[in-house]
Amino acid sequence: MIERIVSDLISSNVFVLSKNDSCIIIDAGAKIDSVKKAVGDKKVEGIFLTHGHYDHSARVMDYIHEFGTTVYASEFTKEYLQNSAYNYSEGKFTVSDFSNFKFLSGNGCLELPTFSVQFHQLGGHSKSDMMFKVGDDIFVGDVLIGRDMGRIDLYGGSKEKMSESLKFLQEVEYETMHSGHGNDNDKKTQDKVANLWLRFLSR
Ligand SMILES: [Zn+2]
Repeated sequence: MIERIVSDLISSNVFVLSKNDSCIIIDAGAKIDSVKKAVGDKKVEGIFLTHGHYDHSARVMDYIHEFGTTVYASEFTKEYLQNSAYNYSEGKFTVSDFSNFKFLSGNGCLELPTFSVQFHQLGGHSKSDMMFKVGDDIFVGDVLIGRDMGRIDLYGGSKEKMSESLKFLQEVEYETMHSGHGNDNDKKTQDKVANLWLRFLSR
């Protein structure tokens, strides 16, 4: 079961994926109380950050404090969390204690007790963009937001990397794409959306 929580930070999404008595959390923009409600008595096997912008990460220390679990994120996320100019919180949010963080590079698969989570480094919206795949669901942060491509004009954004990311997402087999904001979409729809933006980017 996947529960989507819409945060008070630019309406970013937090996802709680539950199976049996365990769960994982994707992104950390929503207030801890709403996440606690979705987690209930389940054990949190990990927290995953799709990228380092504050609307997806600002409550991460609250989650660590509450659930005492490991945070998984791209190796390029650290500089975003350390610097409020890069995470766009305008002086409000930085992380200095990374003892609960495990940084990932490239691509691979994390085998947690209940969940198997594939990861793949993306880019374009930020250097820290990471796709996570669990079963037939993918989580792409702000690389593709429904019909919109994520912004490429922010720190670490890149037109070339965005093109690579969109092409990669077209190659991935999945049923449902969960973006960092807005509703879920299916692969057929998102492949078409990616094509439109690839044409736009190649102009
Ligand atoms: Zn973002």
